[in-house]
Amino acid sequence: MSQTNTDIVIFGAGIAGLWTFNRLKTMGYDVLLLEKESIGCGQTIASQGIIHSGLKFSLAGKINALAKSISAMPDLWRDALEGKGDVDLRAAHVSANSQQLLIPAGFMGGLTKLVTKKALGSSVHETPHDEWSEDIKRSGFKGSVIFMGEPVLDIPSVLRALADPYKNCIKQITEEQAAAPFDFLKQHNITAKRIIFTGAASNHDIAKTNAQDEGLATQKRPLMQGMVKNAPFPLYAHLVGKTDKPVASITTHKMSDGTLVWYLGGGVAERKKDSDPHDVYNDAMKAFKAYLPAVDFSNIEWSVLPIDRVEGKSKTDSWMPDTPTIHHTEAALYCWPTKLTFAPMLSDMILKDLEKQNITPSASESDFSFLPEATYTQTPWDKAKWSKYT
Ligand SMILES: Cc1cc2nc3c(=O)[nH]c(=O)nc-3n(C[C@H](O)[C@H](O)[C@H](O)COP(=O)(O)OP(=O)(O)OC[C@H]3O[C@@H](n4cnc5c(N)ncnc54)[C@H](O)[C@@H]3O)c2cc1C
Repeated sequence: MSQTNTDIVIFGAGIAGLWTFNRLKTMGYDVLLLEKESIGCGQTIASQGIIHSGLKFSLAGKINALAKSISAMPDLWRDALEGKGDVDLRAAHVSANSQQLLIPAGFMGGLTKLVTKKALGSSVHETPHDEWSEDIKRSGFKGSVIFMGEPVLDIPSVLRALADPYKNCIKQITEEQAAAPFDFLKQHNITAKRIIFTGAASNHDIAKTNAQDEGLATQKRPLMQGMVKNAPFPLYAHLVGKTDKPVASITTHKMSDGTLVWYLGGGVAERKKDSDPHDVYNDAMKAFKAYLPAVDFSNIEWSVLPIDRVEGKSKTDSWMPDTPTIHHTEAALYCWPTKLTFAPMLSDMILKDLEKQNITPSASESDFSFLPEATYTQTPWDKAKWSKYT
């Protein structure tokens, strides 16, 4: 077997691996990206695609380090979407340019003060009733509609925009190879100046197996996302309740046959992995009845997606860390973006490490054709088993 000497090998083709891969390739690095299942198949395709600016966290009274560090991200994504950023996302689609907060009458409280004081800037403002969308007017919703200028992206198209240009360097490995990555590289005579792990949950195990986990702490936070097939209309909204978390955060997605799906995060989804899916359904239907009483849900089908968020361990509380996390070792970097939104910041942090190690682009292109090409993942709604609950 011939020897392959590349600049960088990345394990894991979620948003963290893909963003960094695309950026490094654009800069002239020789990079091999290895994926054990399919491109985007983990948390990335399961995400709601919201590019946060910190508004949600500010509204929840958490004007904290997270709200501050994330606030710079939407501009980086917008630059990328316009082809003016570190990566080129012009081929990706924006599902919605903004979201809405649906706040029942009497619930406004401190939020009214923030919005009326314009403390959150021009990206949050109340929408006068005559400017509500026809769907919201017809839904029977009673309360305030707050405009929130955060985009929602179509994730399958983001994956393709990042992977398509360099698809010949994104390769498939087996579960077994993925579990023993250093052995895999040795067996295939592949050397790299830096190895980067962006494999989410598997990162910690790999670091541990290879005695590289000193000082490493990670956390998992379980979710059971709800999915509503035959959704009544496109909606990108947070149903605001009395606590600092929305009762439900709704984004809308299309199945491959065009059927509309509401994807439900927020309060209805925050529960243990082995929870009864009926509980998610019951809580969601209760919320729909309260917030959107005139909408007919008799035609819907229902499914759930149990999944963990995986990230570095928060130093302050059981919530998420304020930034991406990188665990630096001599042999490799282990990386968690914390949020999809943070992918650009994570890649900046990785580039700083490469600079420190004096690893510069070799401008060469290794031939990785001896490895099979990775394929794209399916969306959760195209994979789901649907039921009609009552
Ligand atoms: C339900 C849900 C909704 C979310 N919504 C949002 C949102 O709206 N906005 C936002 O900013 N964030 C959101 N997040 C968070 C965001 O999705 C994650 O922070 C982000 O996608 C993590 O990206 P990642 O690349 O680190 O991991 P993943 O997307 O999980 O990707 C890891 C990849 O690595 C592969 N892999 C694992 N181990 C190996 C190995 N050893 N070798 C090769 N391949 C390997 C996996 O198969 C997978 O493809 C959400 C998360 C969840 C769970």
